[in-house]
Amino acid sequence: MGAGFSGAVIARELAEAGHRPTVIDGRDHVAGNCHTARDPGTGVMVHVYGPHIFHTDDAEVWDYVNAHTPFRPYRHSVRTTVRNRVYSLPLNLLTINQFFGQTLRPDEARAYVEARADTSISEPANFEEQALRFVGPEMYEAFFKGYTEKQWGVDPRELPASILKRLPLRFSYDDNYFAHRFQGIPGAGYTALIESILDHPAIDVHVSTLFQPEMTDRYGHVFWSGPLDGFFGYAHGRLGYRTLDFERFEGTGDWQGCAVMNYGDRDVPWTRITEHRHFAPWESPEGSVLYREFSRACGPDDIPYYPIRLVEEKALLAEYADRAARTEGVTFVGRLGTYRYLDMDVTIRDALDTARAFLDRAPGAAMPAFVTPPL
Ligand SMILES: Cc1cc2nc3c(=O)[nH]c(=O)nc-3n(C[C@H](O)[C@H](O)[C@H](O)COP(=O)(O)OP(=O)(O)OC[C@H]3O[C@@H](n4cnc5c(N)ncnc54)[C@H](O)[C@@H]3O)c2cc1C
Repeated sequence: MGAGFSGAVIARELAEAGHRPTVIDGRDHVAGNCHTARDPGTGVMVHVYGPHIFHTDDAEVWDYVNAHTPFRPYRHSVRTTVRNRVYSLPLNLLTINQFFGQTLRPDEARAYVEARADTSISEPANFEEQALRFVGPEMYEAFFKGYTEKQWGVDPRELPASILKRLPLRFSYDDNYFAHRFQGIPGAGYTALIESILDHPAIDVHVSTLFQPEMTDRYGHVFWSGPLDGFFGYAHGRLGYRTLDFERFEGTGDWQGCAVMNYGDRDVPWTRITEHRHFAPWESPEGSVLYREFSRACGPDDIPYYPIRLVEEKALLAEYADRAARTEGVTFVGRLGTYRYLDMDVTIRDALDTARAFLDRAPGAAMPAFVTPPL
């Protein structure tokens, strides 16, 4: 159930092993949230549900996707506009020097930032304290506070410190957004990649078809990559998500000069503007397609994007996980099925592991509800 990376990769692995999987998706296209489509007016390849950059350290996953469609080199570059100035992200030596009007070398910058950081906080209890501990009040206010409030719709003091896991600062001029070994974008787009994964004579694909949980009995086993709470009719309440609204507009040529421009100020209502032509630097369309991105609480009819996973949601998740464990014939997978934020490479890794667990299990042994537990 679901024709995103989770459903496609599991179906392919099962088909290769001699099964006959049926893949069902409610949307009128495959590829789930990674769907790309060429804009008919401008010719720009658009990342329909928001920007997707493939980055991984997992060599098997990298080889897997490249075997289906060649990836082109891509280096993700992000800037942020704050108080009428543009800065480099992730926070690096250039950002620090520009922000404080300095010409510091790495060691000097480290000492300079440490002198501003709130070292009295030894055990940061929330996101704000974590940021104050790492970067101090000036950079926290400029680069984290407003953006985080817009993205999550809550005071950063209500968010766990773990969101800001490591020191979000580089004391070098490296502004490559990702630090993984492999990074790229499929030359023909993600939808072509997933179509190739699904292109096997034993796989039967149905789009524009809603899968109802009652249909489970028709199949030998169901891999459910839809919402975990949706499978149980939201009986215990809805798991919280943030949804996104994209306001599309067009420009000519290179409109903003980079793929993603964040907007850190609280009084700018959007979180970022994405310019899709930059995701295919090997193409040179004349026009440009851009998305202004707004984040808000997800309602029942919205597309769920980011799981919130605060204390309340985790308690509800435990209830659903418990029900799932007592449900036979279904394995919950992917970002919605396990209520986790998953990058594409992790989604593929989980899908490969799930298919292998299914294929390698002892004859007659039940398949667990989760191969990767959601909690
Ligand atoms: C804004 C945004 C940006 C992202 N950027 C990146 C990035 O740069 N790099 C990266 O690695 N990852 C990124 N991701 C993560 C990436 O989108 C996920 O890893 C990936 O989509 C997970 O695939 P999936 O198959 O689990 O889920 P999905 O792609 O959501 O697929 C699930 C499918 O199930 C279908 N479905 C659900 N319920 C039903 C039903 N009842 N009946 C029929 N069909 C149903 C849906 O229509 C959907 O197509 C981003 C995510 C977001 C939200």
